[in-house]
Amino acid sequence: MIDESRVSFLERLISSPSPSGFEQQVQQVVREEIKQYTDEVRTDVHGNVIAALNPQGTPRVMLTAHGDELGFLIRYIDEQGFLYFAPIGGFDPSTLPGNRVHVHTPSGPILGVIGRSPVHTLSSEDRGKSPKLADLWIDIGATSQEDARKLVPLGSVATRAALLERMQNDTIVSRALDDKSSIFALVETMRRLHEKREALKAGVFFVSAVQEEVGSRGAQTAAFSVDPLIAVAVDVTFTSDHPGTSKKELGDVRLHGGPVLSIGGHINPRVYQLLVKAADEAGIAWQIDPQAARTSTDTDVIQVVRGGVATALVSIPCRYLHTGSEIASLKDIDEVAELLARFVLALDKDTNVIP
Ligand SMILES: [Zn+2]
Repeated sequence: MIDESRVSFLERLISSPSPSGFEQQVQQVVREEIKQYTDEVRTDVHGNVIAALNPQGTPRVMLTAHGDELGFLIRYIDEQGFLYFAPIGGFDPSTLPGNRVHVHTPSGPILGVIGRSPVHTLSSEDRGKSPKLADLWIDIGATSQEDARKLVPLGSVATRAALLERMQNDTIVSRALDDKSSIFALVETMRRLHEKREALKAGVFFVSAVQEEVGSRGAQTAAFSVDPLIAVAVDVTFTSDHPGTSKKELGDVRLHGGPVLSIGGHINPRVYQLLVKAADEAGIAWQIDPQAARTSTDTDVIQVVRGGVATALVSIPCRYLHTGSEIASLKDIDEVAELLARFVLALDKDTNVIP
């Protein structure tokens, strides 16, 4: 199980803002933590953090999750000092009004609120309708354009202010569990591999990738430079265990149900089988996520780097994705970490990934 003392590292990841393209703060936290479990740590020109354990080992395996999160980019400040923004990543606008946000400025974070006209004043037509992003603004309590401009340079970013909190049954809630819960799981995998390094044959490359939410750009270049035979991306995936979802459309994926293993065209069938074997041998219950087309994760771009990479996708079940209250299970996160450690320990120079 995840040690309670480790949860503070997940809290640090979450309290370090990292909208896509602005990941420096979270990557600093990742570098400081991962260096004790790896032999080399470097950061590339995009900001990907790449840390190697046993880099001369065979085969080369890349374990990657994305460190970036959704955010808002401030583009305009009006006469009254309200901030207007462009979304960084895919938001459902109906989840935004009333959210508290932190605007990240040169002198530190400033509290703000996403405003919308009160329901009383909306036309009967607009009531109950999702707002348009262009109709929303951030209110920092400024009294004028000049007042706001002194504090917030254009081009500043903001993130939702929600932080990690605990719920019942090992459940956690926060913004940005997508995908910081996966970064956390992979650092835990690296910690466990480092403890067993005499048994390790593979060269293991941990990647905290940038810019997934805006097109998987970080994972693409990281995969090129790492040049792995095998890559496993870890991300969160939606569940079908709450009202308003259809198991017929989404399959059966539950919170607390264990790691979710994808199968389909983007997944190497032998790597999939090795993951299933590792889970079964460890007695970890797992769930299946058949994906007929793209997975919409970093897996898709990594697969086609260079001459091709034997890719797989392992997901943490997560409710209410891309809201300020994403929910995940510490039990599932622990099992993803354990599954991947066992999977990597079983790899050696004879591992065959040719379908
Ligand atoms: Zn994600």
